[in-house]
Amino acid sequence: MSVVPVFLYHAVADDAPSWLAPYTVSPRTFAEQLDMVADSGLTVVPLRRLVAALLGGPPVPPRSAVLTFDDGYADFASTVAPLLAARGLPSTLYVTTGALSPEGGPPGRGPFPSVATLDRARVRELDAAGVEIGGHSVTHPQLDTLPRASVREEVTGCKRDIEDTLGHRVDAFAYPHGYSSRAVRALVREAGWTSAAAIRADSAFSSETDDPLRFARLMVRADTGRERFARWTGGEGAPVAPFAEGARTRGWRAYRRTRAAIGLPYRALPASPARSA
Ligand SMILES: [Zn+2]
Repeated sequence: MSVVPVFLYHAVADDAPSWLAPYTVSPRTFAEQLDMVADSGLTVVPLRRLVAALLGGPPVPPRSAVLTFDDGYADFASTVAPLLAARGLPSTLYVTTGALSPEGGPPGRGPFPSVATLDRARVRELDAAGVEIGGHSVTHPQLDTLPRASVREEVTGCKRDIEDTLGHRVDAFAYPHGYSSRAVRALVREAGWTSAAAIRADSAFSSETDDPLRFARLMVRADTGRERFARWTGGEGAPVAPFAEGARTRGWRAYRRTRAAIGLPYRALPASPARSA
């Protein structure tokens, strides 16, 4: 079985707000990590190649990797895209449509306070430059704790907004916080998304037998470290999806659902008004 690292980044910046800092890498670290990917002999392929393989199409080349970026922070355009373009690397950017900034105006309010997000003009430019734009819901909720009607609004509203913005269809979705359930995945498929990125067991490798509607990713954080990242580029240091959902994951979801039902949703970072990235 071919092990496929699908790297997940959030912000790439030197000055992230405190709630986002644990999910942020510096531009310098990010550039080093891109060099490590290249030096390890990995080939970065577009996400659609992996998705095609997961849907029964041609296999990805041996030692393939994928680069993904969640949320839609402004640093993707100013910092990430130039570094990727200089290396000729493909990427997928999952945007939270309710957090996009108004064009020509100050940053909007939304699920990501105190941090600049992309506006629609930038998203169009990135799309035109070859970055795959995907969806990451409207308001970045934990979809597996919401009623069906709300999930449907989040996954269809986000798709419609991006497609209206870009003028063409988009296929790739990523679950906010990585959370999904069987019911959420069914609604994502019904909305027309052909793939959906998850986070399994904190970080895991994807593979050619992974589930296209919850493929696993490796979350690169501020504290990931060179050694761990190097192991990941060598295909080691994390489990390989697909694997069965564990009792801990089920118990954790039950806890989060209970909190949501009593109006006290779980927040990854309680001191902040925002949920985690
Ligand atoms: Zn997110």
